[in-house]
Amino acid sequence: MAVEPCIISVAITGSVPMKSDNPAVPISVAEQLESTHAAFEAGASLVHVHVRDDQGRPSSDPERFAAFQEGVARLCPGIVVQFSTGGRGRAAEQRGSMLHLRPDMASLATGSVNFPTIVYENHPAFVRELARAMQAHDVRPEIEVFDLSMIYAAADLVREGLLSEAPHVQFVMGVRNALPARRDVLEFELAQLRAVLPRATWCTAGIGRHQHEMNRWTIELGGHCRTGLEDNVRLDRDTLAPSNAALVRRTAALCAEASRAVATPAEARRILGLRAA
Ligand code: MG
Repeated sequence: MAVEPCIISVAITGSVPMKSDNPAVPISVAEQLESTHAAFEAGASLVHVHVRDDQGRPSSDPERFAAFQEGVARLCPGIVVQFSTGGRGRAAEQRGSMLHLRPDMASLATGSVNFPTIVYENHPAFVRELARAMQAHDVRPEIEVFDLSMIYAAADLVREGLLSEAPHVQFVMGVRNALPARRDVLEFELAQLRAVLPRATWCTAGIGRHQHEMNRWTIELGGHCRTGLEDNVRLDRDTLAPSNAALVRRTAALCAEASRAVATPAEARRILGLRAA
């Protein structure tokens, strides 16, 4: 089978306040739109979104998500919009508070794991509640795999009818206290995914200095890549990334080196099984 073009996702703003680490992290919705537009022009076809309040703290305010969604549709035609249901800084009952806006996608972690300083808690009942809400609003989940068990937990959700048989899965590596960014571990996870969910599409996110090397491995292995300031604020040890667009350009350059095309928004929608924009 021919290798698909590579979908470059850009995670523009995390939930952990990082403004002090790199002033290029966009915080207000206006900053987020400007940053996403530049990343889109550099080749990103999917944007992963957390919003912040006026003090820069993680927010669940559906109005902010709606303002981003409305603006990005205008500035970046066809871009795939993925809202985060991630847990840091938000109570469980707030984590799906924006799904009624029907973004194209939303993240869905299928288990719990230790993060650097917290437990990222995803109770089995809560995972199912979020999966049901995504089905009800026709939002395609991106399964976040922080640990091996989460692959099999996703397969259980497929058997329960809560997920499509061809889910989109992201392997996250390099989070301290979770899985290390090792190519042999990635290849094992991928082999397991192919065994239990053979129709799944997949991408990876490497945290911090692992972002670039994981992009490279993933391009070689035929997967899709996430980059962006949520996961990593540096171009290299000595240089802060000046923008999300700069990180997208770095990933696009790796695609060019490997003779792998970068997906357009229309191609990303086809690959991910999403409705046309
Ligand atoms: Mg996130």
